[in-house]
Formats: sequence, structure tokens, C-alpha cells
Amino acid sequence: MRHLPLAIFIALLGVGPLLLPEFHVTLLNYIGLYAIVAVGLVLLTGVGGLTSFGQAAFVGLGAYTTAWLTTTHGFSPWTTLLIGLAVTAAVALFLGFITLRMGGHYLPLGTIAWGISLYFLFGNVEFLGGHTGITGIPAVSLFGWELKSGREFYYLIWLVVLLAIVSIRNLLDSRQGRAIRALKGGAVMAEAMGVNTPRTKIVIFLIAALLASISGWLYAHLQRFVNPTPFSITQGIEYLFMAVVGGVGHVWGAVLGAGLITILKQWLQDWLPQILGQSGNFEIIVFGIAMVLILQKARDGLWPVILRLLPERSLQRAMPQAAALPKRPASEAGRVLLEASEVTKRFGGLVANNNMSLSVKAGEVMALIGPNGAGKSTMFNCISAVNPASEGKIAFLGTSTAGLVSRDVARRGMSRSFQHVRLLGQMSVLENVAIGAHLRGSKGVLAAALRLDRAEENRLLAEAARQIERVGLKEHMFDAAGSLALGQQRIVEIARALASDPCLLLLDEPAAGLRYKEKQALAELLKKLRSEGMGILLVEHDMDFVMGLADRVVVMEFGEKIAEGVPEDVQRDPKVLEAYLGGVE
Ligand code: ADP
Ligand code: MG
Repeated sequence: MRHLPLAIFIALLGVGPLLLPEFHVTLLNYIGLYAIVAVGLVLLTGVGGLTSFGQAAFVGLGAYTTAWLTTTHGFSPWTTLLIGLAVTAAVALFLGFITLRMGGHYLPLGTIAWGISLYFLFGNVEFLGGHTGITGIPAVSLFGWELKSGREFYYLIWLVVLLAIVSIRNLLDSRQGRAIRALKGGAVMAEAMGVNTPRTKIVIFLIAALLASISGWLYAHLQRFVNPTPFSITQGIEYLFMAVVGGVGHVWGAVLGAGLITILKQWLQDWLPQILGQSGNFEIIVFGIAMVLILQKARDGLWPVILRLLPERSLQRAMPQAAALPKRPASEAGRVLLEASEVTKRFGGLVANNNMSLSVKAGEVMALIGPNGAGKSTMFNCISAVNPASEGKIAFLGTSTAGLVSRDVARRGMSRSFQHVRLLGQMSVLENVAIGAHLRGSKGVLAAALRLDRAEENRLLAEAARQIERVGLKEHMFDAAGSLALGQQRIVEIARALASDPCLLLLDEPAAGLRYKEKQALAELLKKLRSEGMGILLVEHDMDFVMGLADRVVVMEFGEKIAEGVPEDVQRDPKVLEAYLGGVE
């Protein structure tokens, strides 16, 4: 029943060429070619948040590689497909390494720059036929069947479309897919969970480029000639429109967007001159206005609008039984896990941490308290290597963390939550928590796309489910994380941190926004973790909560340590009373 709309769609696709006139088959062929590129952009831009205007250039690379090698060197098209992919991969890796490091608007600008350069390269290189291009490209043969007509070629194109959609959907529903989706939650969270974000960006950039290249190869053998025009930056912008209008973040939206825009453009080209009584490129103007209107009315594209018409789909999933993941050996009680000494952190002229020292042992709850702006979260960021300290030493498990990034520290067994909750609101609680288990799996992108990762995936999800149960949110397992109360979202962050099997847990204001009963449950959980040998460093404002739980307390004010000791002593310390109450006798 759930797959009925898909089955109908595939059946319609299958009979299409048998019933439709030539013109419509051609249109569908183009829609398919565009959709392949747009699927890549959904992954890159919609899911990963990286905007590229330059995809048409990768289409061109695939098309020109096969055009040139088949016509002048007599290569078989299937060989040139592989060569085209290799060329595209090399170029994409090169461009990716240069441009993906540039944040913000530099990346889109970079993609425009290479889009323009590759386009002019195609047009100006003599052996590629200059602006007239290359003709006489041979037809593709499939098991001895020569795909000479558009009707025959149609099946190859749409087979590739469906394969692309299935594999990208598989990928998104996996360990690597969660890492990709975590990019949108900001690199800080993803890295703290152990995701190598630069690598993940390169990977989706590469996948999008390879899909574009395949589309180019198909185009060249459908059309049997190539010239530079379809690979211009204008086309690159149109691909982006397709992905965005169809539905950023929805793989099927790529097909919808490609179909809609192709048909809309065709329709405008046919009808506008008749309506206006004169010809000219009016369709481009009307097209532009239509795009703006669609995006204004449906910011997330049109696919979500269609989804609302289909049978409701919940985030619920079957949870198969799976063996537990291997665990880190427990640290012996009393072992010093963390030793921060004389840590100073400056933001320009502002000294947020000044000469701060603290340590956390296994099986102990250490509380870091102090007024707002005292520098507690900054200290957390230094310890978890989110931000490097300006001066001082931080040792975790006896080794310095100098020069490490937060995913290295996470790998060694430190995990954390964030004061400002960093969850992916549209994803289920289960999937959010599973991001925390990232480092406990190893399956890659290819295994995920081919669904060879299920055994490991089940274990990761089962582990996430266990942690969700442990923190008492079982009934919210399949709810969208963003739909929970803020206090509960903090608890989800704790479950996510626990899913990494840490030996040191850093919790930044975990009890904020919790009701009394929930606070009690949290305190019980933390006590249990402590008894199992975990070290816990805790920032918290609720003094009853802190004093009832902490073994030791460090008090900060204006970036400096003003007191340290067991709760009873710290509570009586005049400096602390001064800081908190403004000086009461
Ligand atoms: P706390 O968590 O104790 O409330 P924070 O560590 O968040 O305090 O902040 C300490 C000081 O450092 C504040 O004055 C804050 O404005 C400043 N600060 C924190 N992060 C940054 C940053 N990335 N850039 C500049 N200043 C910062
Ligand atoms: Mg803070």
C-alpha cells in the first residue's frame, strides 16, 4: 500500500513511450536527464546545504569526454562512460578541495567561476570542435540492442533516474546519510559527534558531480552531437531551480522539479508568442517571475505539497533485534580523565577564560558553575576542542589534546551536549541519537547506497534506541526531535552523547527547562552513570540540582576560577556568595 504511488509511477513510465507521441517522449527524455543532475543537487544543496551553480559544467565533462573519445579514437561508449566518470571525479576533487573550504557565499561564487571557465574551455578548445561542437557520436548498444531512437533511449535514461533515486535514498537512510544530514545542523555539532565534515562535503560534491557526468554521457548519446550551449552557467542555474522548486531535501522532488520546469518552459515558449502576438524571449522573464512566486508560496519546494496528498508517512520504523555494539572498557574509578591547566581563551581583546584549571576523575560528577557570561561554555568548547584554547594545557586520558579537532577528541571517548540545543528538528529522535553512534560504525557511502550496511545499521539504531530508553524518552523515539519540549530536547542531546559510549561526558545546562520530576529523573540517571565509572562535567544553574549531585564544584566569575571544593564548602565561600548574590553577609 505504501509503495502504491511508486508502483503506479513506474508503470506509467513503462508504458509511456508505447502510447505517447514522439514529441512527448523527447520531453520526457530531457526531464529524465535533468532529473539525474537535480538528484545530485538535492543531495548537495538540499540536504547538505552546499549551493552549486556549476553542475552543468560536470554534465559537459561527461558529454565531451564521450563525444571526443568515441568519434576520434573509436572507444566504445561504455568505456568512455567510465573514463568520463574518472575525469569528472578528478576535476570535482580538485575543485572541491579548493572551493568547499570557502564558507558562506564564496562557495556559490566559486561554482559560478568554474562553471563559466569550463564552459569557455569547451567552446575554445579546437579539438573539441569549438562552438560548433562534435557530431557523429555513435549510438549506445545494450546487449546487442542499438538504442537509436529516442523511444528506445528513454528506457535507459529512466532506468538511470530510478537507480539514482533509490541509491541516494538508501544513502540518506544510513550512518553516512545521517552524517550528511548533520552538516545542516552546523559543522560544530557534526564534528563533535565524530563526523569528518570536510570529507563528507567532498563526498556529496563528488556524488553530485558524477551524477551530472552520467547525465552528460546519456545526453551525448541521445543527441548524437554536442556543442557548448547546454553546459553554460544559465543551465547550471536552471538545474539549481529544479532542485529547489521540486523540494530541497526530497529526492523525488528532483523529478518533480525537472518535470515542472521543463514543461513550464516548453509551454511558455509555445504559448507566449501567441498570447502576446510577438516573439522575443519573453518566456525567460515570465519563467523568472514564476520561479519567484513558487518559492514565495512554497519555501521548501513543491514535493512537500504533494506529500501532504499522499498517505501520511510517519518517522516510525521497525526495530529489528540486533547485537549490542562493542563497548569501551570502563575506566577504573578515580582515574584522572581530564586535566585542564592554566587554560586561557581570548576572543580578540576579550578574555573569556583566564588561567582556568580543573580536573575530572572517572566516577565523579564535577560541576562548573558561575553567573551568565562567566566563561563556562567557552571552557567546554576548549575542552572538547570545538575551539582551541589560546594558552594552557588540556590532557584527556593522559595525552594532550593540543592540535586535535573535536572529532579526534570524540573518538578518544569524550562526548558532549550543547547549551543551545543542536538537533536536527525534522529528523526523528532515534535518528538524532544515532548520529552520536557515528564513530561506532564504519560502513561507507557505497555500502549504504547498495544496502550492504544493514547489519551494522541495525546495531547502531538499536544502540540509539537503548540510550533513548535509558534517558526515559522511549515514547518519543519516532517523534520529530523539533516537536519535543526544549527540556526534552536537552535530554535527547544527552542520549546522543551517550550513544558514542563516552568515558567523559560534558553537559552544558542539561536541566534547564526541565520540570521538577524530570530533573529528579535526570539526577538519577547521572548518578547511575557515575556509579558505572563515567566522569561527568556539568554546567548548571539550578543550585539544588548541582549541590545534590556534584562531588566537587568549580566556581567561575569573569573567566576566572574563584572557588573550588566540595559543595558544602563552596556554598559557604564568601567569594561565591558575593558573585551570586552581590554580597550578602
Ligand atoms: P557562560 O557559558 O558562562 O554563560 P560563555 O562562555 O558563553 O559564558 O561566554 C563568556 C564570554 O565570552 C561572554 O562575554 C561571551 O560574550 C564571550 N564569547 C563566547 N563565545 C564567543 C565567541 N565565539 N566570540 C566572542 N566572544 C565570545
Ligand atoms: Mg553557557
